[in-house]
Amino acid sequence: MIKLDEAFKLLKDVKINPKIEEISIRNSLGFVLSEPVKAIIDNPPFTKAAMDGYAIISSDTSDHFEIIETIGAGDAPKNKISLGKCSKIMTGAMLPEGADKIVRVEYTKEENNFMKITTPEPYENIILKGENSKKDDIILDKCKIRPQEIAILASQGISKIKVSRPPLVGIINTGSELKNPGEQLGKGQIYNSNGFQLIGQITKENWLTKYYGIFSDNKEELQKVFDLALKECDIVLLSGGVSMGEFDFVPKIVKASGAEIVFHKVEIKPGKPTLFGKKGDKYIFGMPGNPVSTFVIFDVFVKPFIYHWMGLNYQQTLLKGILNKKIKRRKIDRTEYRPVKYNNGIISPLSYHGSSHIDSLAEANALIRIDKGVNILEEGKEYYVRQI
Ligand code: AMP
Ligand code: MG
Repeated sequence: MIKLDEAFKLLKDVKINPKIEEISIRNSLGFVLSEPVKAIIDNPPFTKAAMDGYAIISSDTSDHFEIIETIGAGDAPKNKISLGKCSKIMTGAMLPEGADKIVRVEYTKEENNFMKITTPEPYENIILKGENSKKDDIILDKCKIRPQEIAILASQGISKIKVSRPPLVGIINTGSELKNPGEQLGKGQIYNSNGFQLIGQITKENWLTKYYGIFSDNKEELQKVFDLALKECDIVLLSGGVSMGEFDFVPKIVKASGAEIVFHKVEIKPGKPTLFGKKGDKYIFGMPGNPVSTFVIFDVFVKPFIYHWMGLNYQQTLLKGILNKKIKRRKIDRTEYRPVKYNNGIISPLSYHGSSHIDSLAEANALIRIDKGVNILEEGKEYYVRQI
């Protein structure tokens, strides 16, 4: 068994050559920018109106202003503004020459092609050319692409970008007791939840999965599907069959495939039997079958590793809060993650009786960490929790 920090280090030390490709920004959600991106243009490319109103010279104290033009968004203004003149202008439209202020329409009255200011306008209400970003500014660093990054790229007119793609993640659920939802349970059987959960955890990040299904604890059949998955995918996740039971074949089939077992058994709860292996540029996680174990091991090990695989140092979102009820445990030999509910700075423990208690995740939106050697987290004290 290895220490938790050692497992983290072994995963981080894996040398990866991210798979770089050029793709359309439309398909880039969940990918990682492979290099910083520079602004191609000033944004906005011209000084524009931030409100609907009338463009004037800010120092103009005229009693009323002649309207010389109406400028809509997308129009090129034709006339220069001089004292006593204004142009009617819409939000987003280019400011006409001479003007440096918009009087919002609500503060004006219009009559016979003249505008009168009824309430003094304290603001300029314009957005200057290049106010948001200037040509050649670094606008994005290497990062995971979210909808907001796509918008920033689009605002620059960038339609294609260089990214490292996410891995194709193969999922195999092992266990002779497993049936899929929709099927009839026989004696001693349970429903497969891990498969759907893992597909969800990966899909939530907009990464790709290939689901191989459920397989009985039969060494030959497992070997066959595992070898196929290892050929077809970049990373293979197996749930179940990774412990010490007579029918726990995962470590054996991983070894028999020619893969190296980097670690097997970690000081973590739930998820002690977790296995990590590699074969060439393919990676394998053997995850214990108990549903909360699978959930936690994905979040703590697999997700950060997938980021690493794409060339990014994953920063887990931590939330700081006050624990509203003490958490006590007897055994302190492993670092433990437990489901909690975080709301507005308050951390509430949830009813949790171990790694098979999938229902404990229903209300959970975070995991609290109890370090090895610690048996109590105190009520009223401040802790960090990881958002899930
Ligand atoms: P194992 O890791 O194979 O020893 O399984 C540990 C526990 O998790 C057993 O009670 C299994 O029945 C259960 N389990 C294994 N695979 C799944 C699965 N795909 N969905 C739900 N529970 C599972
Ligand atoms: Mg099993």
